[in-house]
Amino acid sequence: MSRCILPFVSGVVRWGPDYTRPFGERRTALQVPARFDYEVATSVEEAISLLEWHGPEARLLAGGHSLIPMMKLRLAFPETLIDIHELDGDLRYIREVNGALEIGALARHQDLLDSEVIGERYPILRDAETMIADPLVRNMGTVGGSLAHGDPAEDLPAAFMALGCEVVVRGPDGERSIPIDGLQTGPFETVLDPAEIIVGARVLRAPMGSAYTKVKRRTGDYASAAIGVALDMGDGEIRDAGIGMCAVDGQTLRASGAEEILEGQRPDAELYRRAGERAAEESNPPEDARGPVEYKRDLVKVLVARALEQAVERAGGGA
Ligand SMILES: Cc1cc2nc3c(=O)[nH]c(=O)nc-3n(C[C@H](O)[C@H](O)[C@H](O)COP(=O)(O)OP(=O)(O)OC[C@H]3O[C@@H](n4cnc5c(N)ncnc54)[C@H](O)[C@@H]3O)c2cc1C
Repeated sequence: MSRCILPFVSGVVRWGPDYTRPFGERRTALQVPARFDYEVATSVEEAISLLEWHGPEARLLAGGHSLIPMMKLRLAFPETLIDIHELDGDLRYIREVNGALEIGALARHQDLLDSEVIGERYPILRDAETMIADPLVRNMGTVGGSLAHGDPAEDLPAAFMALGCEVVVRGPDGERSIPIDGLQTGPFETVLDPAEIIVGARVLRAPMGSAYTKVKRRTGDYASAAIGVALDMGDGEIRDAGIGMCAVDGQTLRASGAEEILEGQRPDAELYRRAGERAAEESNPPEDARGPVEYKRDLVKVLVARALEQAVERAGGGA
């Protein structure tokens, strides 16, 4: 069974907190969550047991900066919150192990910004973090929450998509790794089982060059569109390019057609333009307050070219 945070997305009709009206028939913009029970986990194993005990209507609470606003707006109605903030000792780390980057689920956005290894070897993550929300959100929001929420407008999943990371999850049956491009199944929906917890993300090796670019309506906002690129180069040619796209589909998208155009080619403006055109064709942006469809497709073209140019430059390839 997959996990979905939004009752209307999973097609289940839910009743309001006082059972007087169905979900959706709101009289006012509510700012108080519906009633819920609250537990605090003191270990990963206890978090898993609590998830099993309380069943599929329970949710983990990490930084709370995605879940709590949705609960206040009555877009999410978890019956039980299982707070994992006491698990920092186990799940808050950023380290390189045998050349692989390991980030714990409770690493905060700000931890990524402060990390030397990320600044030096994974600039795509640093770029993305400088553009996520504001210092308040970055001090609380976690990597695990960003991945588990399944929001197509979250930046980190697109950056991780370009890097080709694995998401490490633990549940009643033990630990497993999910490739990042297999994590989301739709808007706010992932392949996580209800009793599974994300324990971290693993990037197997640092790319030679990487970059993240984003256009948003104002500082601190989610993206109208954002693009992450990670690549290796050899003999002046691009190899192993990864492109992750944010906010231009119902889920975080990999631009695999554009990646194919790049591989084995010498980088120049014309190549970037062709890759951007292909990525725009692969995108399926929603029309919403962040812009009309054609505008967002245009953004994809421009941002792919911009991110590629920067990633190639950082790889020392020149264009
Ligand atoms: C004003 C504002 C602006 C923002 N702007 C941006 C932005 O520009 N870009 C961006 O990317 N994000 C943005 N965010 C979101 C922010 O980055 C969140 O902190 C992050 O998305 C979720 O992390 P969290 O720890 O707060 O998750 P929570 O809100 O605690 O949880 C989110 C979901 O993930 C689940 N979950 C949490 N941790 C785990 C885990 N370890 N394993 C399994 N499930 C888990 C929860 O049960 C819940 O369903 C913004 C948020 C706010 C409030």
